[in-house]
Amino acid sequence: MRFIKVGVIKIIIPIRCFSCGKPVAHLWEEFKDRVSKGEPRKKVLDDLGLERYCCRTLFMGHVDLLDTVARFRKA
Ligand SMILES: [Zn+2]
Repeated sequence: MRFIKVGVIKIIIPIRCFSCGKPVAHLWEEFKDRVSKGEPRKKVLDDLGLERYCCRTLFMGHVDLLDTVARFRKA
């Protein structure tokens, strides 16, 4: 039998940054909003006060999967 290692599946943005512990979840909606309107990510991250690269990585790499996952039922 084969197992596919998936690692940590992030469905929603974590409440706090994994590395430094800064609370970041409340900033996600604004970030998503402004980036979708075409603002550069750097500017938005700077405005939100995310200075450390651990927090910035979290935002740059995050994909909202909640809507996708919600379409599947538990077996
Ligand atoms: Zn951080």
